[in-house]
Amino acid sequence: MNKIKFQDEKEILAWAKVNVNRQPEVINRIQKMAVKRISVRNHMLTLIQQFDTKNLKKFINTHRHWSENYVKVIKGEHKRIPIFNENTNKVLKSIFEYAYLSLLNNDNFWELYGAEGNSISKSETRTLVGAHTRICPYCDKSEITNSNESNIDHFLPKSKLPLLSIFWKNFVIACVTCNSKLVKGEACLLPVLHPYYDEINKKIKFIFDSRTKKICVKATKGQDQRRAENFIQILKLRERYKEIWPRSEEIIFTKTINNLFHDYILNPRLNYKKNYNWNMIFDQSIQQRKNELLTLAGEDTQIKLKTDYYDHVQINDRKMWTNELNTLMRKRIDLLKLIDTKEF
Ligand SMILES: [Zn+2]
Repeated sequence: MNKIKFQDEKEILAWAKVNVNRQPEVINRIQKMAVKRISVRNHMLTLIQQFDTKNLKKFINTHRHWSENYVKVIKGEHKRIPIFNENTNKVLKSIFEYAYLSLLNNDNFWELYGAEGNSISKSETRTLVGAHTRICPYCDKSEITNSNESNIDHFLPKSKLPLLSIFWKNFVIACVTCNSKLVKGEACLLPVLHPYYDEINKKIKFIFDSRTKKICVKATKGQDQRRAENFIQILKLRERYKEIWPRSEEIIFTKTINNLFHDYILNPRLNYKKNYNWNMIFDQSIQQRKNELLTLAGEDTQIKLKTDYYDHVQINDRKMWTNELNTLMRKRIDLLKLIDTKEF
């Protein structure tokens, strides 16, 4: 059926009258819509009744402030925008929740109210934003899809800031776990890092303890340290990463060392007069693996964890490994010298 645009209710009713015999299912749709329209009207009436002119002005101003300064508030570059008292918030919440849960998913609503090119439904938002990444931007641990299994999270919770429940900049496509009550819930700490407006990878760091095989998540020192700390707390990253040791990457690292042994030490053309710079060779191999991992960012899970693991290895284990490689090489050279001597 072709979508028909109406200017107002009168036009809808006139159209329905003409089409009642031809398209009964359309009339059914309109009746359902009429019920919804009454609900919208009632909600709007509640809003107007709750606010006198002064408060209504405040409401409009606050809404405008949020939409103009959202990113600045998150970054802590803008003074906190006043929020309403609990009662007002309650009313706002019911209105905006209604808008979020019902209207944004309703095709008829968009058919009637959607300004072309400007309005976007919940499922369209999910598809559009979710298309750019396959991995949850909060935790980097879970894959997300465009289906309902992944959620649209309200970055700043709609329970505390109902005005933002239908504000698209506040939507983040995240995994079900991050969006659950147990993890993010209604936590609201400002200022905070935002996965779409900040490079979170550069602001938090995984610290590894090789002895206990435990991981600690830290906010990187610098001007965004407090925002990073709030992000870690909201997403409960410390608890969630504590026990996740990058075992698969540890195996790949062992293979890398093995390859070095084969390429340099077992090389039949080993030149034992040459002095190898093991630190450089070691760093180059690690950098190569890190680059490989970085090409998978957004496509594979735990990329940040794995690249940070190599930073840990470079700082803590390089000396041990380069010494080991050096010792093995000297043994090999001694052996080669011995063979040389015997041949003569
Ligand atoms: Zn997640």
